[in-house]
Amino acid sequence: MSVADDPIRFLLVDDLEENLLALTALLKREGLDFDLARSGEEALEFMLVNDYALALLDVQMPGMDGFELAEIMRSSERSRHIPIIFVTAGSSDVARRFRGYEAGAVDFIQKPIEAEVLRSKANVFFDLFDQRRQLAAQRDELVTLSAALQAADRQKNQFLAVLGHELRNPLMALLSGLNLLDKDSTRIPAEEIRSSMRRGITHVARLIDDLLDIARIEQGKISLIKSRFQLQDAIAFAVQTTRSASTASTHVVHLDLPSDPIVLVADEARLVQIVSNLVGNAIRYSPPGGEIRISLREEQGCAVIVVADEGIGIDPREQSRIFEIFKQVETAQTGYQEGLGIGLALVKQLVELHDGSITLLQSAIGEGSTFEVRLPMLSDEPANDTLLR
Ligand code: ADP
Repeated sequence: MSVADDPIRFLLVDDLEENLLALTALLKREGLDFDLARSGEEALEFMLVNDYALALLDVQMPGMDGFELAEIMRSSERSRHIPIIFVTAGSSDVARRFRGYEAGAVDFIQKPIEAEVLRSKANVFFDLFDQRRQLAAQRDELVTLSAALQAADRQKNQFLAVLGHELRNPLMALLSGLNLLDKDSTRIPAEEIRSSMRRGITHVARLIDDLLDIARIEQGKISLIKSRFQLQDAIAFAVQTTRSASTASTHVVHLDLPSDPIVLVADEARLVQIVSNLVGNAIRYSPPGGEIRISLREEQGCAVIVVADEGIGIDPREQSRIFEIFKQVETAQTGYQEGLGIGLALVKQLVELHDGSITLLQSAIGEGSTFEVRLPMLSDEPANDTLLR
């Protein structure tokens, strides 16, 4: 429920209980809430804690009369804007006495009160209040939206800068590789240069694939090509290709896969991509020689994949944001900084396209991270190459 749905409040001020009761009965309706004050002092107390769409003031009260109360209301920031209807007993001449204080909306009504006249006067102020309140809510919404847009814009600019670096470095390495090969000297380790160039190209190609995937997912254009396969095979393949792609990985990888086959109807290539991404991060954010554990189990109709490392870990303040697109955790350990901050966002989207979920189970700085992917094992899914989305 938004603020705009809250009841509209008004204040009735009269020293006579029977008048308060009669006015309440006249104005009462759904969506309206009211407070009753028996004196000017009590009314001011109410105005300290509540905002009112209207104050209905009896002019003749013992002690502080209605005009005096209105004067004090107009002098205070909190109550200055509250519209006032004076209830006067005498002739309309009385109304003139308040001329000097007509800073805000003021109206008069004479006793004996005609119900319809009072209702229509009061309704004008209630409607005004409601419109003002809705405008304020819309303004707040716009302010929030505009702040979010500005943040997204900053993030995109940052991303473009990182993308520039990410593409430039391997391209420069490729260029110098080509220049070296051009020298046509027997002392040049051509095979080494070629394999380093191949790694550079693979890296750039992967970045571009990830970017295209993200764009496709955001436009709802990604298609899952589902087939029936053994998850153990997909995981083993992902681990093997990720390890061989990472330069001189000395990490110790433990694979804990159950002997009973876990069969899934899903997009196998996308599942390999999910696991490769998590294992790639585990390698990238762990020191050489670090241990990485990948396990698979079946639990309550779900295949559960866990990837755990003993690397640098993630600052608790950043943990809730690592699945956001373009989010790269800033770290003082610059040796680990590489990548665009789209890997986990893409993994999350791919997992969710499979109706699964991904969570960071545990992570602490210097103590490694554990990610868990849960995928439902629906056995009645079609196992052909149908485009499902
Ligand atoms: P990147 O391409 O920067 O690795 P990701 O989306 O894969 O982008 O990860 C987002 C951020 O989350 C990374 O910049 C990194 O700081 C952090 N992160 C992801 N995986 C790990 C991990 N296994 N250990 C420590 N930090 C990680």
